[in-house]
Parts: sequence; structure tokens; C-alpha cells
Amino acid sequence: MTMITHHLSDQLLMAYSAGTLPEAFNLVVATHISLCDECRARMASFDAVGGALLEDAHAEMATDSLANVMARIKAADPVVKPNATARDTLLPTPLVDAIGGGLDKVQWRAVGGGVRQAILKTSDKATARLLHIPGGAAVPDHGHQGLELTLVLQGAFRDDDGHFARGDIEIASEEVEHTPIAEPGMDCICLAATDAPLKFRAILPRLAQPFLRI
Ligand code: ZN
Ligand code: ZN
Repeated sequence: MTMITHHLSDQLLMAYSAGTLPEAFNLVVATHISLCDECRARMASFDAVGGALLEDAHAEMATDSLANVMARIKAADPVVKPNATARDTLLPTPLVDAIGGGLDKVQWRAVGGGVRQAILKTSDKATARLLHIPGGAAVPDHGHQGLELTLVLQGAFRDDDGHFARGDIEIASEEVEHTPIAEPGMDCICLAATDAPLKFRAILPRLAQPFLRI
């Protein structure tokens, strides 16, 4: 049984429920919800509020704008079931769907320092990637121009904001500059989504950035 201590914010849950997040963020939110009873319950209440607001709005809304809202809600598919996949115990169902299989289907690319990543196919408004960080290794020190969500799938990492293990989510905004370090003993696998290129401090990662799309 996993103890999740770092959860989604209300803002993210509401945006997910309203269907306004880029696909890459939807994937991280859906994956966390599939692992986290607490956020699944909070999401259900946001969905209920959203449904009630929509009913109130029926009378005044033009038919085409209602159709738009309904299409958005349908596209976002906020119904996430608890993780119950038998195919892969490490990857929750939304991720298995996004990858089209288990971890053996992932095409890793080395990004230096033993760290590997795989970019997942989503719309280009934001980027979703799997990160594989050897135990004890660090992701290069970087700041953010936008929002970065990092969800731990295996192992754990630590940075100035705390300790993050399976199911935990780190929400890093523009002010955050951090060096996540995988806890020794086990490789850390994370799902991360970013909506803007990361700002690396060291010159080398910065040169490599256009090629790695990070
Ligand atoms: Zn949660
Ligand atoms: Zn970061």
C-alpha cells in the first residue's frame, strides 16, 4: 500500500475536470488519480460541481456553445478508474494506454549522467516524458519557464521541496529551481509534463536542449 503525501492542487483538479489542460498534463493528473484515492474523491466533487454549473447555464447558453462545452468535457474524459491493470504493475492504466503497452514498449534515449528519457505522444501544447534516473543520480539543476509536474512511478527522489515516492507529485512553477536526486538503492522512474522548455543552468545541458526537447 503506497502512502502518498504530495497531491494535486485544487487548481489542477478543477482545470482537469473542466477539460482545459493540455494533453500532457491530463496524462499526469489521470495517472496520479488512478493511484490516489484522496485526489480521486476530490475530483469527483469537482466533477459534480461542474455538472451542476452546466445545468444552471443551460437556459442562457446558445446551443453551439453548449455543444462546445460538452465536446470539451467528452474529450477530457475525466472518468478515471482506480488502477487495476493486470498487464503492468508499475505503470498505471492511463500510462499503459499512452505508451501502448508496458515498460518494454518504452523507447529510452540517454540524456547524460546515466539519465534516460522517453517523450510520449501528446498534443504539442505541452510535453510528457518518462524519466529513468539511476539510484543516487541527479537530474541537472534547472529552473522553469512554465509549469512542471513530476509524478514518481518507481523509487524515490529528493530535492529542496521534500521527498517524493511512488504516487507523489511535485508541482514546480516558475519560482522553483531544483536538482532532483534519486534516492540510492533503486532506479527512479518518473512521469513528467512541462509546458515550456526548462532553463538549465549549466551550458552543456543548454546546448543539448534543442535536440532532447527538454
Ligand atoms: Zn493525491
Ligand atoms: Zn524541474
